[in-house]
Amino acid sequence: MDYKLILQTIKNEVAALENTGNVATYIPELAKIDPSKFGMHLNCISSGEFNFGDCNERFSIQSISKVFSLTLAMTLMGDELFERVDVEPSGDPFNSLVQLEYEQGIPRNPFINAGALVISDILISKLENPKKEFIEFVRKLSGNPSIDINESVFNSELSNSFRNAALVNLMKSFGNIENAIEDILDFYIYQCSVSMSCAELSKAFEIYANSGASFNSEEQIITSRKTKRVNAIMQTCGFYDEAGEFSFRVGLPGKSGVGGGIVAVHPGQYTVTVWSPPLNPKGNSELGMYALERLTTLTGLSIF
Ligand code: GLN
Repeated sequence: MDYKLILQTIKNEVAALENTGNVATYIPELAKIDPSKFGMHLNCISSGEFNFGDCNERFSIQSISKVFSLTLAMTLMGDELFERVDVEPSGDPFNSLVQLEYEQGIPRNPFINAGALVISDILISKLENPKKEFIEFVRKLSGNPSIDINESVFNSELSNSFRNAALVNLMKSFGNIENAIEDILDFYIYQCSVSMSCAELSKAFEIYANSGASFNSEEQIITSRKTKRVNAIMQTCGFYDEAGEFSFRVGLPGKSGVGGGIVAVHPGQYTVTVWSPPLNPKGNSELGMYALERLTTLTGLSIF
């Protein structure tokens, strides 16, 4: 497989496209990003790494962090975790409140905001020093101790977190939240404000492509059964009300964030990250989705 040529083809195609998406503005700090940034990094289990563009520049991972927090919570807890958060696609936007009222405060899945806020609550209850242990977990997965949060993004979201505050309050009223609302928002916004590059994300996601262990490591971070489950949730819920469209066009488990990043996984083959800040109306990177669709088309490698 000539991955180098395939990425070159995608690079040329993307350069010729008009990017009609919009950068997220509801977190004011994210609105400052240059919309023309584009990076892609492909990390194959046995054929090496290929990349282009701004693939080594760090950006705000936002909801991609929900995969790390779910994974960490799954290492600390068994199936009882899924009594507090379901594993069904929501078909609704990432920050929607409506289903929560109908479904008595049990979020549809861990990758919408409501579900990730329950996972934050669990991590706060289980960990001695949740923020520190979370960031160390991400550093360990990516093999890079310099990974950190962007303080400006953190502060910007903290002072504009009205919807997330509404979600936690509603869930608390149903008895699905144990800790103080401010502590949960503080932790959740912390995890969303982590900055990583495409190359670092592709590395950190190796465990999902390799049954729970990084490519060149014997250390099992999570069991292969749990890895399979995280991948299943990425496949069905990783793109909110566009999960079906992503499956249809790309055919891989993956997770997006409003910073414009998307990470996708082909179990047994590769991890891949794209970053392009302008989002489509469903909150997923417009050109990022295009680039991944072309990758699975040109390589013939999707899980279907
Ligand atoms: N921090 C963002 C929020 O809670 C994450 C959303 C996202 O990336 N989809 O709104």
